[in-house]
Amino acid sequence: MPDIPKYKLASREWKPEKTIIDVKGCQIGGDEIFLIAGPCAVESEAQIDEIASYISQLGIKFLRGGAFKPRTSPYNFQGLQQEGLDLLRQMSNQYNLGVITEVMDLSLLDTVYPYTDIIQIGSRNMKNYHLLKEIGKTDKPIMLKRGMDATIEEWLLAAEYILLGGNDQVILCERGIRTFDTSSRNTLDIAGIALAKQLSHLPVISDPSQATGSRDLIKSASLASIAGGADGLMIEVHNDPKKALSDGPQSLYLDQLKDMLPALAKVSKAVDKTCSWKNKHEIVNV
Ligand code: PEP
Ligand code: MN
Repeated sequence: MPDIPKYKLASREWKPEKTIIDVKGCQIGGDEIFLIAGPCAVESEAQIDEIASYISQLGIKFLRGGAFKPRTSPYNFQGLQQEGLDLLRQMSNQYNLGVITEVMDLSLLDTVYPYTDIIQIGSRNMKNYHLLKEIGKTDKPIMLKRGMDATIEEWLLAAEYILLGGNDQVILCERGIRTFDTSSRNTLDIAGIALAKQLSHLPVISDPSQATGSRDLIKSASLASIAGGADGLMIEVHNDPKKALSDGPQSLYLDQLKDMLPALAKVSKAVDKTCSWKNKHEIVNV
């Protein structure tokens, strides 16, 4: 019997050239570093407006924000749901931003689909194979987060489920895994980013926010991710992190995001990547 490859469509053997995903004027997986920023959850019009306006001034082209949130405790804020989707649409129109938000359950796919440019599949759902099969039939890019307990092989096999459905626009997202060490929320697997890039032609981005759980670690984790070969970053940022309804401790203050962009540009350049973000003082000039 011939060897059945563990994964095929996701592999470099199958497709040696890198996959570049075109969405809302951005090319993910190409020469340019792709940045997504925004709050963990959409909380109110005032909140999302201040954040969206700020990131668009920095030249960041994609806004994140959960409308349906997978929370560990059922007593925690679950998201604004439809109102959150409406606000994301409003911000997208107002500031010409692409939108990424999570589809938490198959029953929500039709609800969320028209409001998002990239569909986020969360860490908790990486092994929801029925959901993966169904979103594989859609025609929008999918950002597949690595399960917090998933091996690289399991992650690539999860991508394979989506690819098999006919959707070839999959973006992998490393968001940290659970290890014995609880001093950071998760352990960011930088070598895993490099390995995923070697094994697969798919773009790989990094989420330093869920990975570290702490805003003081975001800059280092972001620089390391880009140096390790990530094609982009998804970063949580909030206009008032102390009052955030979810993931406040890992959310950057707005000016912290601006302040890390020059260093990010330098590291990007060191690995032969370009970037198109700017900041108010024009200190990014590469
Ligand atoms: C998030 O992006 O806010 C999130 C819940 O991520 P993860 O699925 O990686 O925990
Ligand atoms: Mn979050």
